[in-house]
Amino acid sequence: MALVEIQNLHKSFGSNHVLRGIDFTVEEGEVVCVIGPSGSGKSTLLRCVNLLEVPQQGQVFVRGEDITDRDCHLDAARQQIGMVFQQFNLFPHLSVLDNCTVAQTTVLKRSKAAAEQIARDTLDRVGLSDKVSAYPMQLSGGQQQRVAIARALSMDPALMLFDEPTSALDPELVGDVLTVMRKLALDGMTMLVVTHEMAFAREVADRVVFMDAGVIVEQGPPAEVIGNPKEERTRTFLRRVL
Ligand code: ADP
Ligand code: MG
Repeated sequence: MALVEIQNLHKSFGSNHVLRGIDFTVEEGEVVCVIGPSGSGKSTLLRCVNLLEVPQQGQVFVRGEDITDRDCHLDAARQQIGMVFQQFNLFPHLSVLDNCTVAQTTVLKRSKAAAEQIARDTLDRVGLSDKVSAYPMQLSGGQQQRVAIARALSMDPALMLFDEPTSALDPELVGDVLTVMRKLALDGMTMLVVTHEMAFAREVADRVVFMDAGVIVEQGPPAEVIGNPKEERTRTFLRRVL
């Protein structure tokens, strides 16, 4: 069974028909990178995977459960999905450690001690064990984004969604975040990543999905989609970004 299966997904904002029939799956352990022009619906697609956006038509299955079904236990499904945004969205008034424990204690009902141990372990994984007491504004953008990744990992997600996690960073800080993501992928994490980092997609993705104007134009191994695209629209996009 696929970890995520999306069938015939349609999403409109008013008269703006943004997703126009998306079908795709993410298998357990797979790293899928979504590329495509600005405005093509990449963020909307990602947000439909955990129902931050509710589609007008189509289904989203997480481990076989239809989360668009109104009888579905949405909170339980969402707990399996971690999300990292372009703007890190940390809690500014909480320390790094507390940023990584608050959802564990409130949502998962872990004890404070257990949550802190897990938070310290995940902060160690992202190379920030020396920053547990710092506040977000004392950190660089790259460090803040790594806290956001640690916070998501502290919830033991089955799937991690990344929406352009390095787009807001100064160029010299991008590498540290990509290194953390590369390590996560090697550790077997299932990841769905919207990115403009073609070198990362080429190296880390099992599959690349090219989206344009609300549809998947082509998908396949990076060597095909990025290295030898079949569709003219993909070639035009790659000429602009490579
Ligand atoms: P991408 O991530 O590929 O740049 P988005 O999914 O963010 O594309 O946006 C696709 C289209 O949907 C754009 O036209 C955008 O203006 C529109 N859109 C996205 N989110 C909203 C929203 N919450 N309300 C209205 N329109 C939206
Ligand atoms: Mg976007």
